[in-house]
Amino acid sequence: MIDLRSDTVTKPGESMREAAANAAVGDDVYGEDPTVNELERRAAEATGMADALYVPTGTMGNQIAARTHTDRGEEVLVERESHVYKWEVGGLAQLSSLQVRTIDGGDRGVPTPEQIRDGFVEEDLHRPGTGLLTLENTHNSKGGIAIDPETIDAAAEAAHGLDVPVHLDGARLFNAAVALDVPASRIVESVDSVMFCLSKGLGAPVGSMLAGSEEFIERARRNRKLFGGGMRQAGIVAAPGIEALESVDRLADDHENARRLAEGLDALDGLSVQPPETNIVLVETSDAEMTAEEFCGACETEDVLGSEFGETVARFCTHRNVDGEDIEETIARVEAALA
Ligand SMILES: *Cc1c(COP(=O)(O)O)cnc(C)c1O
Repeated sequence: MIDLRSDTVTKPGESMREAAANAAVGDDVYGEDPTVNELERRAAEATGMADALYVPTGTMGNQIAARTHTDRGEEVLVERESHVYKWEVGGLAQLSSLQVRTIDGGDRGVPTPEQIRDGFVEEDLHRPGTGLLTLENTHNSKGGIAIDPETIDAAAEAAHGLDVPVHLDGARLFNAAVALDVPASRIVESVDSVMFCLSKGLGAPVGSMLAGSEEFIERARRNRKLFGGGMRQAGIVAAPGIEALESVDRLADDHENARRLAEGLDALDGLSVQPPETNIVLVETSDAEMTAEEFCGACETEDVLGSEFGETVARFCTHRNVDGEDIEETIARVEAALA
């Protein structure tokens, strides 16, 4: 089986398992787990933020960020196709009593400064006030597109001009950094907080990081406890995260594999595929007169797994457990699936 459903399916290799087995640990709720402390120090360094916090999942990291930046009842400006809005079980409302205002970020999923100013609500007797803007990079629903630092800067500047803080959902921040050939710290330079996942392309079994100012992380740490994310001897699961952070450069292989996969699939009759910017390949199946569900079903009978992403859009995601040979094999099997 070639599993391209997501980069979350990656399994830790021998060295990550050894790191977990040998990790020095302590009670992290007391701040005494040396492995977690080291991971947090490195995550802060990699993002250029003052401090960072280890969290069990990316979803929890985003939700803690929203809770920490806002007051109950405020509005959050979110992009219409963003993960924090579409795929987190309505957490902004459920966990933090926030109201969302959606913005259509267009092809690249980034609201323009003008849209941000238009969406802003000033607090008064009748209106809740805007408490946060969230952005996403790479943008998952738009096909893993890598948003350049200047575009992030422009959105953040517009929000800051209205006294609104900015959180970046950077689940795949390092894919963006590698694709754009800029340091991750440059991409997040103008935002107030960022979450990134260790458990996707970076290959760790568990965990994400939330980074921001010291004061922000101190309050986020309290909200992590509130949301049930205060873990004890978490060094066991954090240790592979340190290796994950050291292996950022290998994401370039995933991008190259995605580029080759897209090219191979686009050449097949009935499929249309845009060149990917990172490790996500969106396949349009309508010319094959197939829904995404039918297409994914046909691929599965050929032992290739993808995921349904829209009515006629399927997603393949490259990752560290598939190599160039698997990609050539995938193209051949998808061709067979279409026949
Ligand atoms: C995967 C993902 C998340 C959430 O991460 P989990 O660890 O699965 O909770 C958040 N945002 C984006 C853009 C993602 O792709």
